[in-house]
Amino acid sequence: MRVFIRLMLFTAALVAMAARPSAAAVRVVATTEDLASLAREVGGDKVTVVGLAKGYQDPHFVDPKPSFILEVSRADLLIVVGRELEIGWLTPLITSSRNAKIQPGGNGYLDASANVRILEIPTGQLTRAMGDVHPQGNPHYWLDPANGRRIAQTIKDKLGQLSPADRAYFDQRYAEFDKKLAAAESRWDATMGPFKGTKIVTYHRSWPNFMERFGLDVIGYVEPKPGIPPTTSHTIDLIAEMKKQGVKLIVVEPYFDSKTPLAIGKQVGGEVLVLAPSVGGSKEATDYIALFDYDVNAVVAALKRTMGK
Ligand SMILES: [Zn+2]
Repeated sequence: MRVFIRLMLFTAALVAMAARPSAAAVRVVATTEDLASLAREVGGDKVTVVGLAKGYQDPHFVDPKPSFILEVSRADLLIVVGRELEIGWLTPLITSSRNAKIQPGGNGYLDASANVRILEIPTGQLTRAMGDVHPQGNPHYWLDPANGRRIAQTIKDKLGQLSPADRAYFDQRYAEFDKKLAAAESRWDATMGPFKGTKIVTYHRSWPNFMERFGLDVIGYVEPKPGIPPTTSHTIDLIAEMKKQGVKLIVVEPYFDSKTPLAIGKQVGGEVLVLAPSVGGSKEATDYIALFDYDVNAVVAALKRTMGK
């Protein structure tokens, strides 16, 4: 009898373990919250997802916390933005994780930029004098929803490869996300439509994909060169150019000092707008679609305000 009860308990424990989805879930680590959000969209309850860099942090310079090494060491899949965005912090993390699966070239390493549209691919020789120009093009490509769709598809295909039994599930999740994103895109197009061709200035070159997608024209940057802090002479030139072209809006990432942008805004009688460059970059930007909802509405509200000035 005792043996029988023990056996019953053992069986019950086994059943409980099998029912727990995380037991068989693919452990995904993504370098940013944007990739983490897209992995959750397609992975559903067949994955557990951790994002490393927070959306309000500069993704070029992330402090590699010890907890990151632990997460990467246990990952089945590491998803990276690539195009050298994480060049300053990711390699030591991957090396110290001693996880063979997620080393570059490994089956558990996924560069999310493989099938996206990349802007600003430099032609000709790169020199230090050009600033922090990425030789493989602008790495802030996730800020175009068409690229978000391509990233989701790339992740879906990889998950299906790592967990073939769940392939139909991932396909289904992807199809649902695709539909949701298409509906959101028509909403964003309707909101942004009347502002097509409006000229703005941004701090860093974080927004070419976003601005191109929604038809805004970036005429200058607060940084004199990518990754180089503002200088007095460049700021004076920028103010003159903004006055000449009647530009009133300066878009700034949450992790840059707003002192220079505010001074410029005052000079041109315009406004500084902090936009979310990533999921988690503002408290409203809770997932990939909410990120665009927030940014689109914030840009339009600011354009309406500054156009009245
Ligand atoms: Zn950048």
